[in-house]
Amino acid sequence: MKQFLLDLLFPKFCLGCKREGSYLCEDCRSLLDITQFYYCLCSRNHQTIPPNEKYGKCSRCQNKKLSGLYFALPYKEGHITKKLIYKFKYKPYLKDLAKTLAGILIEHFIITQKNTDAIWKNSVLVPVPLDKKKIKIRGYNQSEELAKELSKVLQVPIISDVLIKTKITSPQMELKKEAREKNLLGAFAVSDSSVIASEVRPLGDERGNPESIKNKKIFLVDDVYTTGCTMEECARVLRDAGAKSVWGIAIAREG
Ligand SMILES: [Zn+2]
Ligand SMILES: [Zn+2]
Repeated sequence: MKQFLLDLLFPKFCLGCKREGSYLCEDCRSLLDITQFYYCLCSRNHQTIPPNEKYGKCSRCQNKKLSGLYFALPYKEGHITKKLIYKFKYKPYLKDLAKTLAGILIEHFIITQKNTDAIWKNSVLVPVPLDKKKIKIRGYNQSEELAKELSKVLQVPIISDVLIKTKITSPQMELKKEAREKNLLGAFAVSDSSVIASEVRPLGDERGNPESIKNKKIFLVDDVYTTGCTMEECARVLRDAGAKSVWGIAIAREG
């Protein structure tokens, strides 16, 4: 009933064709190129790894802290995917798009046969954190909203207070390779009262328990995977704190 009234007062329009009813109509959704394969982290040349492969990476990527990446869509200029993600993160801040986008990721898991219990067993979802400035502007962390929706379907718990952002960073895309690494240095941390300075989280603020990620398989959730530096840095921090393995989940991947 509540949803019915909300739809009546604030009708949704398809971001692709402006048709009334939802943010993404069935026709526009069917045009999406949902990834049918699993790609390595270095997949510029789109080499695929069979779904039954033990390790999610090619030999060149074995030293990376991130074990592998799942993404549902290619991130292309002028494509509806870019529009969906943009409206999810920026004006008009369509937080509700999390449901649509999580649904697309779930479809990718089904297509690539990643919807098995073995994959999600003993795992947790950890959204890539945002700095406080961005949270204040947006009012929410889009990765957390996405993780919440995934959590409902996958029945995997979400932990969003353990991995935290400890400094404001510049957008990675605007920086050269060396600057990117420097930009992210010390940008993330695992919440622990002995490590985190008080100005990061005011005293009395709820702090996460680092024990909750120990020996867990972690799925890091982000909206877009671009250079991969952010996820790699988060994976490094989580692995140092005792996580068993860290995998990435992104709606779309650039390149
Ligand atoms: Zn449409
Ligand atoms: Zn690779």
